[in-house]
Amino acid sequence: MRLDDALDLIAEIPDFPEPGILFRDLTPVFGDAAAFASVIDALGEAVGDGVDRLAAVEARGFVLAAAVGYARGLGVALVRKPGKLPAVAGRVDYALEYGTATLELPVGSVEPGQRVAIVDDVLATGGTVAATAKLVESAGAAVSGVAVVLELAALGARSRLGGMPVEALRTL
Ligand code: IMP
Repeated sequence: MRLDDALDLIAEIPDFPEPGILFRDLTPVFGDAAAFASVIDALGEAVGDGVDRLAAVEARGFVLAAAVGYARGLGVALVRKPGKLPAVAGRVDYALEYGTATLELPVGSVEPGQRVAIVDDVLATGGTVAATAKLVESAGAAVSGVAVVLELAALGARSRLGGMPVEALRTL
């Protein structure tokens, strides 16, 4: 399937999770084998060369990064929401639009000196990717870039991410 046709399957859900928010729902892409393959192939290119490992945040990021990792022959660092890991290498609190969130990096998931590409479904404010980048860097690794399916440009993630290279399959 052409990438544009695959991305056209992304649904828009008004007023989720809060009134006034237009949620982009990738469920139809995950559910369609040809669309999923097309998106994974494109993300696999978007992560670029010279990458030693992928990093992704649960839950949809895990699905994408696992498939990209398999396709590219790369392992994945599985960044978790708090309270799930037996051994935590790093923890970061970050601001959400309302309140805060926490992410944790498993011990042994990233090695010092590695170049790590961050994979996720949607780049909105960039807070999640910025927090993931901090975790990767706190483990002595470097972020090579960010690959996402969808970037919501109006939310200004790129300014929050400094000069980090960002590849989005579609920008809205
Ligand atoms: P950010 O931290 O504001 O960039 O939000 C990105 C994180 O929230 C990602 O891990 C996404 O999975 C999730 N997210 C934010 N907005 C959407 C959306 O419209 N659809 C699906 N996921 C979203």
